[in-house]
Amino acid sequence: MNFETLRAGVSGPVLLPGDAGYAEELAGYNLTVVHAPQVVVGATSAEDVQAAVRFAAEHGLPIAILGAGHGSSVSDEGSLLITTRRLTGLVIDEDARTARVEAGVRWGEFIEQASKVGLAALNGSSPTVTVVSYTLGGGLGPFGRKHGYAADHVTALDVVTADGELRHVTAESEPDLFWALRGGKGNFGVVLAIEFGLFPIAAFYGGGIFFPGELAADVLHLFQEWTQDLPEEMSASVGLLHLPPLPFVPEPLRDRLVAHLRITYLGSPSEGAVLVQPFRDLGTPIIDAVGILPYAAIASVHSDPVDPLPLFEHGALLRELPKEAVDTVLRFAGPDAASPLVLAEIRHMGGALSRTPEVPNAVGNRDDTLYNVFLVAAGGPPDAAVLHGYEQQLIDALGPWSTGRRYLNFMFAGDAGPETAVLAFTPESYERLAGIKRRFDPANLFRINHNIRPAA
Ligand SMILES: Cc1cc2nc3c(=O)[nH]c(=O)nc-3n(C[C@H](O)[C@H](O)[C@H](O)COP(=O)(O)OP(=O)(O)OC[C@H]3O[C@@H](n4cnc5c(N)ncnc54)[C@H](O)[C@@H]3O)c2cc1C
Repeated sequence: MNFETLRAGVSGPVLLPGDAGYAEELAGYNLTVVHAPQVVVGATSAEDVQAAVRFAAEHGLPIAILGAGHGSSVSDEGSLLITTRRLTGLVIDEDARTARVEAGVRWGEFIEQASKVGLAALNGSSPTVTVVSYTLGGGLGPFGRKHGYAADHVTALDVVTADGELRHVTAESEPDLFWALRGGKGNFGVVLAIEFGLFPIAAFYGGGIFFPGELAADVLHLFQEWTQDLPEEMSASVGLLHLPPLPFVPEPLRDRLVAHLRITYLGSPSEGAVLVQPFRDLGTPIIDAVGILPYAAIASVHSDPVDPLPLFEHGALLRELPKEAVDTVLRFAGPDAASPLVLAEIRHMGGALSRTPEVPNAVGNRDDTLYNVFLVAAGGPPDAAVLHGYEQQLIDALGPWSTGRRYLNFMFAGDAGPETAVLAFTPESYERLAGIKRRFDPANLFRINHNIRPAA
């Protein structure tokens, strides 16, 4: 294969294994994923992406896409991999309350800019994931119960499809592709930029409360009762965290189990304080950081680690959370468990997350999901089978309350394939996605992901 023709058509770096800068270009968040593409293209423009996609199509190379590397899933060995980190355009229109964000922009940067003009978007827990990749997979964030998924507010996307065409996709210009891209993630092309609506949220009542492991059962049982009847203004999750003895963990939380309640309330702070009081009555927390926070501090609600880590995850969507389900989570991840999990999280869903948005999209499994369970274990590849095995046991034990389905953005690190992609959508949506895939990517070039196979 003559990579010189590719180099001639691309302004950014085109790197082969062994070239200086190849490994650096492939650096991402999740250290369990070892990238080994045949060639890497560091895209600097739409033209670079078009040249790379056309080269891959001509030579039958599968195409992998790397944003910030939190969600890499299957091996990209032998692929042509496109990195998006140089696509850093970010425009916020204060009057129109809209944003246009290119594929390399991470949430941290977006939040900093938007908060300066008193606007907010539906970012997730982590400030280091890219806005585009997160949104294409749905985008489940701390304002979700009030405003839905991030994908629900997207109005336009610029995408290079498998034929090398650059398309400006809206509900009017390409209705099918517009529906599929918002939820179907990386299956339909390289998305260069997205446009979406913003919210006038300068501040909110919320934050995190860390309770000692001894209170874990009380916190989770209260969370179970409390979430049976909550206003949509309140989005909440609770995580059992086994925090390592590492410097990035604040000293009082280091090397111990904690129960971490995270809340965001979009009503009045005094109502929020009343709502959260039952947790404060449970006992003395290690840290209580709930109060009135500026949107600029939204990432502190979850306080996700920002430095790269070796993570294996698993998850399940639950239709209900009875007391027995909480006991099951505690049995595998609570104070008495010899658990390899660094995080066992239960997010409360429902509200706007359950409703079809004004312009429907492919984001799956809305109707019957009331809780999202997300498990994370940390370790190197030799531990993969053990860690995944433990996670699977817990997921199996939650079977009686599970919908048997998954949330696409919470599938990564060795957890992909057609079998898993099917679980992220309703059967009707999956069938429609497969049909759209056949139209726009019949050779399935975009298959280094949770792959939606082109319909036969
Ligand atoms: C610590 C942590 C916290 C998280 N919290 C949340 C959360 O609160 N809510 C939530 O919804 N998700 C959450 N996620 C999941 C995260 O949103 C997804 O994994 C997301 O895809 C990561 O973005 P990235 O840029 O790191 O993606 P990458 O790993 O670089 O990409 C993942 C996949 O996305 C696709 N992709 C990336 N860029 C493009 C593009 N430009 N065009 C087309 N396809 C593309 C490709 O298929 C690629 O394989 C979290 C993940 C981690 C590790």
